[in-house]
Amino acid sequence: MSHPAGVVAACGCPGSASSVLGGVHVRHHPRCLHSEPRRYVWSYAGTLYTGSLADHGEHFESLDPDARHRVTAAGDELRTWTEHYRLHATTTKTGDHRVLYRLAVTGEWVELLIDTSR
Ligand SMILES: [Zn+2]
Repeated sequence: MSHPAGVVAACGCPGSASSVLGGVHVRHHPRCLHSEPRRYVWSYAGTLYTGSLADHGEHFESLDPDARHRVTAAGDELRTWTEHYRLHATTTKTGDHRVLYRLAVTGEWVELLIDTSR
């Protein structure tokens, strides 16, 4: 079952709502009952991992630069029990050897500032 782009839980929070829970940006007001970040399973190099998008971000940050580049270019797939989500990565160079990575799925995103000079 695919998740239509741009559709989030039907809770009445406007599209402009946002809050940060457990390191994950969500498009809900902080007290919305739907604001809990989703838990995912993803696969990397034959191993299955579970966690929130923030945990995925930590895993992404632990990869070597080439592997990070591959994930950034190809995207990734995060699955819940019933649905799957396409991860989109965008990068912004900060000018001081650091890159701001934004890892986003429908309704959630994390931002990571990674030093690329090491
Ligand atoms: Zn909401």
